[in-house]
Amino acid sequence: MSDTAKFKRITLKLSGEALQGKQGFGIDPEVLGTIAQQLAEVVYLGVEVALVIGGGNIFRGLKASAKGMDRTSADYMGMLATVMNAVAMQDALERLGVVTRVLSAIEMKEIAEPYIRRRASRHLEKGRVVIFAAGTGNPYFTTDTAAALRAMEVNSEVLLKATKVDGVYDKDPMKFDDAVRFERLSYLEVLSRSLHVMDATAISLCRENDLPIVVFDMLSPGNICRVVCGDPLGTLVAP
Ligand code: UDP
Repeated sequence: MSDTAKFKRITLKLSGEALQGKQGFGIDPEVLGTIAQQLAEVVYLGVEVALVIGGGNIFRGLKASAKGMDRTSADYMGMLATVMNAVAMQDALERLGVVTRVLSAIEMKEIAEPYIRRRASRHLEKGRVVIFAAGTGNPYFTTDTAAALRAMEVNSEVLLKATKVDGVYDKDPMKFDDAVRFERLSYLEVLSRSLHVMDATAISLCRENDLPIVVFDMLSPGNICRVVCGDPLGTLVAP
């Protein structure tokens, strides 16, 4: 692996589920620590890191609304869940000596700074890890879309989508032995084949703005650094 970063500024989308480990809910401190360590290594390479964390390990709006809850209320709860994850990640990173700021799309100034694009860019320039919390701040959206949106707003060169599998497959690799991994896909292929990369709104946003996405396995230690250094891991979704 090269130890020179290929990108100056990245946005990483981490699903809430990535933090729950084997316990199946909430935040596993050990997993949180391992991810924070990987992120710290990327920061030490001199890369500016923006992070968008989901909330699915705590609460999902769609699931709750399927059981009768008002969708908007449920989505606000989902967004609050992302704030909990963001604060947990901030704590884990700062224990490693990494300077961070949580910027929330829903104002809660005792906990996080409000999201202001110029402020986010300034923090990144100063080498602080910016953790975007509360998604887009709007119900009916996802943190995938928030990641695409924020990546474009702060001019990230790439959107890294960390998952549990090592890329995008033509069918579920957990169920089918003959599943084939794609090395590269176009945005249209992802949309037309309904491949599980990110939701369609997020993919469309990236497509309209030519933002490349790398889908890769974050559970293998060192992988975030490898992707940032340009190792051809996972699947690239690009024009
Ligand atoms: N959410 C929302 N608007 C946003 C982002 C998230 O309403 O802009 C809510 C939605 O209810 C979602 C929950 O927050 O189910 C958690 O986010 P997501 O499902 O994207 O988390 P992940 O799957 O990445 O853990």
